[in-house]
Amino acid sequence: MNLRQLLFINNACFKAGRNIAPQGIMVHSTGANNPWLRRYVGPDDGLLGRNRYNNHWNQDRPDGRQVCVHAFIGKLADGSIATYQTLPWNHRGWHCGRGVNGTGNDTHISFEICEDGLDDAVYFRKVYSEAVELCVYLCRQYGLSEQEIISHSEGHRLGIASNHADVMHWFPRHGENMDSFRAAVKAALSADATDAPIVAPIDALYRVRKSWDDVSSQIGAFRVLDNAKRLVDTNPGYAVYDNTGGMVYGGTGVTEYEIYSVVKGDSLWRIAASKLGNGARFPEIKELNALTSDIIVPGQKLKIPK
Ligand SMILES: [Zn+2]
Repeated sequence: MNLRQLLFINNACFKAGRNIAPQGIMVHSTGANNPWLRRYVGPDDGLLGRNRYNNHWNQDRPDGRQVCVHAFIGKLADGSIATYQTLPWNHRGWHCGRGVNGTGNDTHISFEICEDGLDDAVYFRKVYSEAVELCVYLCRQYGLSEQEIISHSEGHRLGIASNHADVMHWFPRHGENMDSFRAAVKAALSADATDAPIVAPIDALYRVRKSWDDVSSQIGAFRVLDNAKRLVDTNPGYAVYDNTGGMVYGGTGVTEYEIYSVVKGDSLWRIAASKLGNGARFPEIKELNALTSDIIVPGQKLKIPK
């Protein structure tokens, strides 16, 4: 999975700021022939490419439509496939209708797969695998099983979503359906983690040791931070260290932080705005990273306070 993040901080749904306790995942597809992520996700971060109509969803929509999902899967400007997280996973989305028919908004994490013309088998296979991996990642994070994954159309049948056909107007054209999708997620969930590694959004390993210098004390190394944390939770005295030896979790009196990789167009202010909810908090990032200037460069790894 190529998981990236561009939170829709300018969408009214993000601003509404309501949280949910995720109890399931709802799979959507966009219903429009446009596989490019930039149609929905913006502004351009250097990978998405520029949306020349500026009609992405990271803004209040001029037509007043209230729609927002937690992630999109589709094409980057170079044609490769990526997943963009666009809302915090436990944020209440606006993805399956309003009122009594849209109660899935209160319970389900949602993502959209960008549709193409529905006939490209190569594209379908790539985004389908990406969607399976995203669901595996979310199931692990929220303790869900594949049984809690439904499509928008199944949500409608359950009475928690508006009447849309997605994704069943598309998957069967390529020999798949929601049962085969759930089976693929189940297989990946039950596979040994070493056989089926979940690729973390972060280009780094999280190592579990007693101390960074005590290399022989290492009892695990993970690409998924949550898995490393889980090991620490059951092994008192151990902590999680990032690639640079910084303690991320465990130990005593340690501030928890995540690693963020700077992308083109970033500024400390923008990162603070998207990660901490307020651009004016950028000095906290400077302090944590011992930065002496405001200049950051793409690819640079920053610790972001949690
Ligand atoms: Zn839908």
